[in-house]
Amino acid sequence: MPPIEKDSGRNELKLRIQELIDTNQVVVFSKSYCPYCVKVKDLFKELNVKCNVVELDHIEDGPNYQELLLEMTGQKTVPSVFINKTHLGGCDKTMKAHKDGVLQQLLNGDASETYDYDLIVIGGGSGGLACSKEAAALGKKVMVLDYVVPTPRGTTWGLGGTCVNVGCIPKKLMHQAGVLGTSMQDARKFGWEFEETVKHNWETMTAAINSYIGSLNWGYRVALRDKSVNYDNSYASFVEPHKIKAVNKRGKEKFHTADKFVLATGERPRYLGIPGDKEFCITSDDLFSLPYCPGKTLVIGASYVALECGGFLAGIGLDVTVMVRSILLRGFDQDMANRAGKHMEEHGVKFLRKYVPVKIEQLEAGTPGKLKVTSRSTEGDEVIEGEYNTVLVAVGRDACTDKIGLDKAGVKVNTKNGKVPVNDEEQTNVPHIYAIGDILEGKWELTPVAIQAGRLLARRLYAGSNIKCDYVNVPTTVFTPMEYGSCGLSEEKAVELYGQENIEVYHSLFWPLEFTIPNRDNNTCYSKILCNKLDNERVIGFHYLGPNAGEVTQGFGTAMKCGATKEQLDNTIGIHPTCAEIFTTMEVTKSSGGDIKQSGC
Ligand code: FAD
Ligand code: NAP
Repeated sequence: MPPIEKDSGRNELKLRIQELIDTNQVVVFSKSYCPYCVKVKDLFKELNVKCNVVELDHIEDGPNYQELLLEMTGQKTVPSVFINKTHLGGCDKTMKAHKDGVLQQLLNGDASETYDYDLIVIGGGSGGLACSKEAAALGKKVMVLDYVVPTPRGTTWGLGGTCVNVGCIPKKLMHQAGVLGTSMQDARKFGWEFEETVKHNWETMTAAINSYIGSLNWGYRVALRDKSVNYDNSYASFVEPHKIKAVNKRGKEKFHTADKFVLATGERPRYLGIPGDKEFCITSDDLFSLPYCPGKTLVIGASYVALECGGFLAGIGLDVTVMVRSILLRGFDQDMANRAGKHMEEHGVKFLRKYVPVKIEQLEAGTPGKLKVTSRSTEGDEVIEGEYNTVLVAVGRDACTDKIGLDKAGVKVNTKNGKVPVNDEEQTNVPHIYAIGDILEGKWELTPVAIQAGRLLARRLYAGSNIKCDYVNVPTTVFTPMEYGSCGLSEEKAVELYGQENIEVYHSLFWPLEFTIPNRDNNTCYSKILCNKLDNERVIGFHYLGPNAGEVTQGFGTAMKCGATKEQLDNTIGIHPTCAEIFTTMEVTKSSGGDIKQSGC
């Protein structure tokens, strides 16, 4: 018997097996001498059901059939029984199905009762946990699988996904460390006297943050157990449209079937693909638990992750350079993005604009060591070199969809970016497979968006709800040292959609009261709303650069959901003295060119 080495022969045989399964009501892969096979064949005879029997010991490439059946179903032994394209299993499972009445349902074409679970969720991050807990609370039998593939440097973490472990939570806490540094400087002006030299201890900060994260990981496990969600710390991939293979960290394989699936596998940081990047650089996946202070750091990239990380590293006193390929915060209002960047620059962050790295070399090993970065101008042939202790690559994230067997389930992905297209009910092209969170094509990559989509999906699937996730006017905040909150359209987009003549922009600089005593950042904070003149000056864009941007933006997000107009903002009485009150008193339009400096309260 020739081994199935050649891909073409193997694929051909697999297609033959699949065709047998697809075109026969019952297929039994059997061995003529096996008593269990005889028992199963006798059962079908007794039931008067015609079955197509493949006696593997009678054909030359029987062992190859068995190898492929193992790959396709997780079962190598015979009998291996398929009914109406569904893999039922061996003799015991067939007999049990007969006893339970499930066999008859399968023969009638109703497979839903035979699956291990009602719902399997792949990915235990923001979206996956929300969806699985909601489905279980609605009485469904649910499994969630979550597995973290270690980074090239070996960093790994617990249950909860990106947000909890290597995203929002450690990021906001480290941002807070930076904010406290500034507050300490302000404190002296408010009368606080402290003699000692103030310095920051990286190890203390990371230990405290990671201990908090550990408690969150544990809390998620308990919540899953309390809700009776079966959690498996294994990597999942489809082997059939209704069946996944789960491999744990010891390499042990298990197979599970479900009526429906939700893909919530998230994204992981992209590397540059230049010499030395994977060997010597870190990403945000490594940064938050780095066991040593990164020292002089080069951040490559200019979006959310890059500017936030660069911002807090500078905030705790490190020497930080951000390498920008083109613009800051692509997709955001550029006026706001540049103001956030200017504030960083004025507070010590260096920007290397219009450069891309081409090579990273190690000069010295260590914690941190020393790296040489060679970069090229995007506007010419100029090549520059720089030395840093740490290089943080923050050039975007790739959807984790390429190794989860989507081809075996028939799920279409956008081959250019690995994203999964879904309809407005988060359903993929395969009706029983749904997708939520960061892997979705053209949607916001934010934790509350993934949570909302997951929860609403479970309610639609299992509670008769028809409420869909609304991806419009999602408020968000970039936690740069001067925070930037926004909701709705950027000025560029508003002009593109409605025309300059139909947009009224109201704006104002402002000076938070708290900044006056330390005398810092005078008239640096900025607020702006974009109103649609064709629609009663409805607010279609909200932008705020100032302290506590998330807290300020959240409420205005609700106001925009309610269709707030400029007049309604004007009729709202402000809370004094706050930063947010600026939105109730904005009078100067951008088109007037009037003075927007704030001179008093
Ligand atoms: P994830 O949370 O990424 O979860 C996916 C999970 O699936 C992961 O645990 C992954 O290991 C697991 N997995 C993948 N493949 C498999 C498989 N085959 N089998 C089993 N498990 C698998 N958003 C905000 O709203 N606010 C912020 O301030 C914010 N800050 C951020 C800061 C950083 C540095 C980063 C990187 C992101 C930040 N985000 C923020 C974005 C936010 O973290 C994501 O939008 C959110 O986590 C997406 O949730 P998700 O469920 O789609 O995926
Ligand atoms: P991103 O938004 O995709 O931005 C990637 C950045 O890297 C861009 O500045 C891009 O520059 C640059 N870049 C790409 N390839 C490069 C290369 N080869 N060399 C140099 N620069 C390169 O990615 P992200 O910042 O990782 O964020 C991912 C998602 O996470 C975001 O969409 C966001 O939704 C979410 N997130 C949210 C928060 C929050 O809510 N506060 C925080 C962090 C992340 P160009 O502009 O030139 O392409």
